[in-house]
Amino acid sequence: MSAPLVDIRDVSHRFGQHAALKNVSLAIEPGSYTILLGPSGSGKTTLLSILGGFVSPSEGKVFIRGEDCTSVPPAKRPTTTVFQDYALFPHMSVGGNVGFGLRMRGVDGTSRAARAREALALVGLAAAFDKKPHQLSGGQRQRVALARALVVEPAVLLLDEPLGALDLKLRRQMQDELKAIQKRVGTAFIHVTHDQEEAMALADHCVVMNDGRIEDEGPPERVYARPATRFSATFMGESTILAGKVTEVANGIITIATQAGPVSLPGTLRAGTAVALAIRPEHLVFGATAGTVALGGAKVNDVVFQGSFKRVLAMSTKDPALHFIAKASAAATVQAGDTVAVSCNAGDIILLAD
Ligand code: ADP
Ligand code: MG
Repeated sequence: MSAPLVDIRDVSHRFGQHAALKNVSLAIEPGSYTILLGPSGSGKTTLLSILGGFVSPSEGKVFIRGEDCTSVPPAKRPTTTVFQDYALFPHMSVGGNVGFGLRMRGVDGTSRAARAREALALVGLAAAFDKKPHQLSGGQRQRVALARALVVEPAVLLLDEPLGALDLKLRRQMQDELKAIQKRVGTAFIHVTHDQEEAMALADHCVVMNDGRIEDEGPPERVYARPATRFSATFMGESTILAGKVTEVANGIITIATQAGPVSLPGTLRAGTAVALAIRPEHLVFGATAGTVALGGAKVNDVVFQGSFKRVLAMSTKDPALHFIAKASAAATVQAGDTVAVSCNAGDIILLAD
């Protein structure tokens, strides 16, 4: 593997008494699209601000292209930031806005205009050069902000909830565009969001943050299929969580006593170990006893039609504290009030580390 483009080493940050980041280490590969995913207050913006040079960490170091950038001011590092509110200059033309960073770097007017036009073409706004920001839609203004950040050819582009101000449909459309633009320019993007769908759609590398720590990181497919922690299993997509304790260990198979009955899985944990199991909604089977692991009966509380599928919420008849979340086909006849048998396949059960 090549040397990481960005190397965050043991970074902690406090605002007064409040620890916003707790010993975060993270490596970013060249050309990758990294998503920092987490709930509000988990430290995403703080980490991005440390990368951009707007905040100096209380502890730890940040290396970019092998160089210690921890105390280098924003304008002197190979990063640019796109903020949620775009922060375009209203009195300046779109071309002027995009060329602004180049002007600050002493690039002459002719080259500036040429490079601004090129950057605008890259984001599909070649015709907007002479317009003013107020003549553009929200999505177009966001693209101008992107062009302005890319025109200076940063090694790393930082984006803080860049699609947060857009309505849902435009947001999904801009996601596809962002990904296409990132692949075209090959610049590493580090993008903050609390939206797990956005994370799955965009990330090559997904970093799940919670309470100032990294809970899980990896390709989104891996984080979804095999989340490392209970938080990751419930924040990146939904899961039914079963709490249990290992009761038996034999020949590489562990038996876990859970709220829904005994569950046997391949594993090597010791008897007495407390564990949590996660099951994704698409892996729970309601009705027919199709799965190899029986999870008892459940009373259906709610069936929500979502277009291509139905989201089914049910409560275990063995333990009312156990809530099942399942995904059924759009044609499924299950209704609120039904009592159903619940099962799944052993291979789909995720054994969580915590
Ligand atoms: P996120 O972007 O994930 O929502 P932030 O990085 O903005 O989270 O904030 C992490 C924590 O640090 C929050 O509890 C927040 O209230 C606190 N925080 C952020 N910025 C400041 C600041 N300038 N002063 C004091 N506390 C802050
Ligand atoms: Mg934030």
